[in-house]
Amino acid sequence: MNSSSAAPALVRYRNTIGGKQAEPIDGQWFESLNPYTGQAWAEIPRCGPADADAAVKAAHAAFQSAAWASLKPSARGKLLLKLAELIDRDAERLAAIEVRDNGKLMAEMLGQVRYLSEWYRYFGGLADKIEGAVIPTDKPEMFNYTRHEPLGVVVAITPWNSPLLLLGWKLAPALAAGNTAVIKPSEYTSASTLEFARLFEEAGFPPGVVNTITGFGVDVGDALVTHPLVAKIAFTGGDATGAHVSELAARHIKRVTLELGGKSPNIVFDDADLDNALMGAIAGIFGASGQTCIAGSRLLVQRSVHDQFVDRLVAFARTARMGDPMLATTQVGPITTLPHREKVLGYIDIARGEGAQCALGGGRPSDPALSGGWFVEPTIFVGVDNRMRIAQEEVFGPVLSVIPFDDEADAIRIANDINFGLAAGVWTRNIRRAFLMSERLQAGTVWVNTYRAVSYMSPFGGFKRSGIGRENGQEAIREYLQTKSVWMNLAEGMPNPFVLR
Ligand code: NAD
Repeated sequence: MNSSSAAPALVRYRNTIGGKQAEPIDGQWFESLNPYTGQAWAEIPRCGPADADAAVKAAHAAFQSAAWASLKPSARGKLLLKLAELIDRDAERLAAIEVRDNGKLMAEMLGQVRYLSEWYRYFGGLADKIEGAVIPTDKPEMFNYTRHEPLGVVVAITPWNSPLLLLGWKLAPALAAGNTAVIKPSEYTSASTLEFARLFEEAGFPPGVVNTITGFGVDVGDALVTHPLVAKIAFTGGDATGAHVSELAARHIKRVTLELGGKSPNIVFDDADLDNALMGAIAGIFGASGQTCIAGSRLLVQRSVHDQFVDRLVAFARTARMGDPMLATTQVGPITTLPHREKVLGYIDIARGEGAQCALGGGRPSDPALSGGWFVEPTIFVGVDNRMRIAQEEVFGPVLSVIPFDDEADAIRIANDINFGLAAGVWTRNIRRAFLMSERLQAGTVWVNTYRAVSYMSPFGGFKRSGIGRENGQEAIREYLQTKSVWMNLAEGMPNPFVLR
């Protein structure tokens, strides 16, 4: 298959450690594969604990260096603004690398990378607005104030679905707050992060402020998380890995932010604009081939409109064009990794075994032109009970479970009957219902008459097992700061400590 997304020869990448291009200490490399062709296109350093140690030490040295620690907050902010310019300049190049690694549509990845620069601008702007408070305490002879200080070395661990965007959610506030960083991208999609890390030097950041470590979680994860010089781990990924990272971090008393999975309900009431709801349902599950933590993978449809809505849904989803993710005409790309494609197909089997009815798709596409890629057809299951595994577990693929409901109370009961709580959608024209649902849904984000909206300005994170902490918005910078309370005695002389007052 001739693919516009296939690169002609293997590109060999290196990590950035202490401002230098670093080869893996053990001399090991592994291949990164293109999900559309199944072919290797890049070589990535396979790092081990010794590389992780070097990266953390470089980040720690930079944290203590005058070049970074004494930089005025406004100057720190300007470095982030300069970086944002470089991201805009290189957006197309970086997005194409991401597509080669994760198979998502070029249109989506380019949109993401272009939008990414806003994160660095927003948090660059916040860098010189980290203000403490003067506290009028009950001790009038004392002057008490607070300072918000950086933590030190932050390890950012990212998944494969949106590597640079999800990195920006961590790195922009972490750097704005004055921390330094070691980035550990997914082993499936490391290349864009390695290219991106090279921009920091050009933007004028001191060496060692941003470092990268590639390789497999099992090889370097524990070494990074438990390293005595690491202060915090900001993690996005699956909940099992997140639990492992959190457990290790707790043992070493380190801070964590966890952005984990979801099984988000997208709820369609019979009073909704059903044309819009249809678009929202499709975008919610088939965008990014369902490989998004906020996928609206449980579609709850009010029983009075259920059958007609499902008919329209199936008819529309059937028109989705699978193909080369680099082409503007493609609407659904492949699954990012081969093991994950097998996992998605496995869930389709599980759903059938549980008695759900497959109304669309349900396997690999038969088109021979797609045989080289790791595709799964857009798939819709009806007759799903919320207690089935297909309704409770994150598939992270283009597989939708449709569940009928009777009324508001029933919708809330079903929607909240799950361990996750990342996002939820509500489609209704009734303003009272919109407020009520927004209040009762157990999710970190609720969308009303829309789906998948996110912004650098608005907090994002999970309820329940979907995570701990918030990214984006002003409160995100607090995740990378620690508060110091300073007491100054203004009284003349110290009282005798042996005389109790
Ligand atoms: P994953 O958990 O397999 O991997 C995530 C990262 O953790 C990778 O960089 C991986 O190398 C690393 N890792 C693996 N083992 C590790 C260990 N022992 N110690 C430290 N790091 C380790 O997740 P994934 O398959 O890359 O991504 C998909 C998951 O991410 C889905 O569950 C999805 O919902 C979630 N996700 C969440 C959000 C969000 O913001 N909530 C966004 C995107 C993806």
